[in-house]
Amino acid sequence: KGQTYPRIRDYGNWHEIQFGSKKGYIHKLSTVPAIKFGQKKVGQSKTNIGTFVALKNAVIYDNSGKKLVPFATISKNIEYPIEVPYGNWVKIHIANRVGYVHKSDVKVSLKKQAKPGNLVNPNQVYTYEEMVRDISELEKAYPNLISKRIIGQSVDGRNIYAVKLGKGKTEIMINGSHHAREYITTNLLMEMIDVYAYAYSKNLRVDGYPVRSILNNASIWFVPMVNPDGVTLVQKGHRSAKNPAYVLKLNGGSTNFAAWKANIRGVDLNRQYPADWYRIAGNTGRPSPQNYKGPRPLNEPEAKAMVNFTLSRNFKTAVSYHSSGEIIYWHFNTPKQHEVRDRKIASMIASKTGYRLVPPSNNPSGGGFTDWFISTQKKPAFTPEVAPYVGNRPVPISYFPSIWKKNQAIGIMLADEAYKNRNTR
Ligand SMILES: [Zn+2]
Repeated sequence: KGQTYPRIRDYGNWHEIQFGSKKGYIHKLSTVPAIKFGQKKVGQSKTNIGTFVALKNAVIYDNSGKKLVPFATISKNIEYPIEVPYGNWVKIHIANRVGYVHKSDVKVSLKKQAKPGNLVNPNQVYTYEEMVRDISELEKAYPNLISKRIIGQSVDGRNIYAVKLGKGKTEIMINGSHHAREYITTNLLMEMIDVYAYAYSKNLRVDGYPVRSILNNASIWFVPMVNPDGVTLVQKGHRSAKNPAYVLKLNGGSTNFAAWKANIRGVDLNRQYPADWYRIAGNTGRPSPQNYKGPRPLNEPEAKAMVNFTLSRNFKTAVSYHSSGEIIYWHFNTPKQHEVRDRKIASMIASKTGYRLVPPSNNPSGGGFTDWFISTQKKPAFTPEVAPYVGNRPVPISYFPSIWKKNQAIGIMLADEAYKNRNTR
């Protein structure tokens, strides 16, 4: 009683009305003509800021006239999208109208609002926790473009994440932070996800590449931190490890872990892959901050997770980011028939980054992810070492802007290349 309502047409003794998706009929004798109709027709809520759950049969009021008029009920325990909170009330859209429900009748839960385009801050020492938070924010901000997968656990039980960006069937993979002290490569990959996703949503180009059309054809899988325990050890010290005494001992008693490359039990993850593993040069023979290849290939869960994940997909190209030196490895006993193909792609990366191609060796030391991918998948793989050589320590964060400038297009360029050549490999 007292609520104004628009009618679609006259229907004899009845008014025909639209009520949500249904047509309804109201007898004319129970209505009077309204002088002014204050309600705008609205659809479903599009704001997606959150929902409420009705704590009881909650009455929905129309507030378009001089007083509140009840016109609908949302049954107890039903979850319903919110338009906006409004003092003691919650504004909603229901049956093509604006309605208000009292806050005391419902339990409101608002989503944390993501700010797209600048979710990741790569100009900081970027931790595992930061990465986990950002991956979930990115997934929330771009639900149709980004999805994550846990591909395994580290020795200390941290998750190893893979993040898929794109909608296309042609897939490539880019990983970072195999080596603990090289964690700036995680900054690079997380920034790529953030910038590419934003460019996709706004239909922008990155370094001339039309991100949206490329990522409609291809997808990039990122594994931004292969060695989360090692990265955390370098950043936060031995107390971050499950067995602090053990890592202190391997580190010669020093609490400075800046030079550490291995995983948390002293195995170099980039010497764990079955690619000429028995001939790896400079093996220490026992757990160490760097260079120990482990008791057998794929003994470590992080390397095992990478291989299982890789074998579960059909990646056309793989990139394993390391630091430092501004060079690119691209060859590992590469068969003659693939040399031209692989050198061409390596040269594309070189001309974007300005990094130098490492000449093929007749007697390479293997065990790396890239070595394994080239020799078993028979497809191109690359190891760019970002930043000018800085010795046995993390690349200072102040280098990030120049690393970004040189590498920002690599992911999207390689996705484009892989799609264009998808039928030949
Ligand atoms: Zn490395």
